[in-house]
Amino acid sequence: MTSWAIAAHGLRKSYGEHTVLDGIDLAVEEGTVFALLGPNGAGKTTAVRILSTLAAPDPDSGRVLVGGHDVAADPQAVRAAIGVTGQFSAVDGLITGEENMLLMADLHHLPKREGRRTAAELLERFDLTEAAAKPASTYSGGMKRRLDLAMTLVGAPRIIFLDEPTTGLDPRSRRTMWQIVRELVTDGATVLLTTQYLEEADELADRIAVLHDGRIAAEGTAEELKRLVPGGHVRLRFTDPDAYRSAAAALPDAARDDEALSLRIPGDAGQRELRAVLDRLDAAGVEAEQLTVHTPDLDDVFFALTGGADVPTQPKENVR
Ligand code: ADP
Repeated sequence: MTSWAIAAHGLRKSYGEHTVLDGIDLAVEEGTVFALLGPNGAGKTTAVRILSTLAAPDPDSGRVLVGGHDVAADPQAVRAAIGVTGQFSAVDGLITGEENMLLMADLHHLPKREGRRTAAELLERFDLTEAAAKPASTYSGGMKRRLDLAMTLVGAPRIIFLDEPTTGLDPRSRRTMWQIVRELVTDGATVLLTTQYLEEADELADRIAVLHDGRIAAEGTAEELKRLVPGGHVRLRFTDPDAYRSAAAALPDAARDDEALSLRIPGDAGQRELRAVLDRLDAAGVEAEQLTVHTPDLDDVFFALTGGADVPTQPKENVR
């Protein structure tokens, strides 16, 4: 039997005329990491705000259950089961890390002694013991995120929402955060995170949903999503605009990037395909400055699903 930490059906949210979430379904199994992946403005934060009872879904929205509780009918029970850290952090910069933690312990009505113990343990766990007596405003970005998460964990939530947990962090702090997320799940928590980074979803998530235009454009494991785009693509770069235009005319299947003067030919990037591309370039009398062959990764999936008008939403036939 599968236990769902989060189950949303036909989730809708509009602001005035603007439909942000156009009936999305989400199912997150307990004890797993689920990534909601999408570009800026895709509606990720809106989804997290609704799932965490900070915003109401539209009246005609379907049912949304978090921790088995209906967000509309029983928001208190949902709040007791969850923790949220977001782009608008709860950290108060004027007081110390430790004081922030103790404030959280008070909010959760922990007895004084237990509050101190929990605060000390979490500060230690997130490598903040040394900084605990300093004002949080002096912390680095990574330290603030860790403190924010530590504060969230004071209430021992079973379901944790992380809204863009590593946006703006340096690579090292990002890796630390990834490790923390893995440990949370090892300890039995369920994590729903939003991210703009494919690499992050690939690293952490058991399942990934790609949010685009208010809908889930694709959902599955990283491997399943990669299979949506068979074989990657060939990319050709040019420095001469005339050569670029001739090549684009010779390769009508290619997606164009007119600014970068580059062409991207979807397909399996195999030997036959490569030869076909080169033959066409030869026939057109143009030479590419650079030719690279890409095997598929999540970037390809993302590009294919959310790309602009020149990009096919369905994998193209191999070029002949
Ligand atoms: P993401 O987190 O993926 O960047 P958001 O959920 O923040 O996306 O925003 C999705 C869209 O909803 C954006 O176009 C944003 O302008 C709009 N939006 C979000 N919150 C509000 C609000 N309170 N009022 C009006 N529009 C909003």
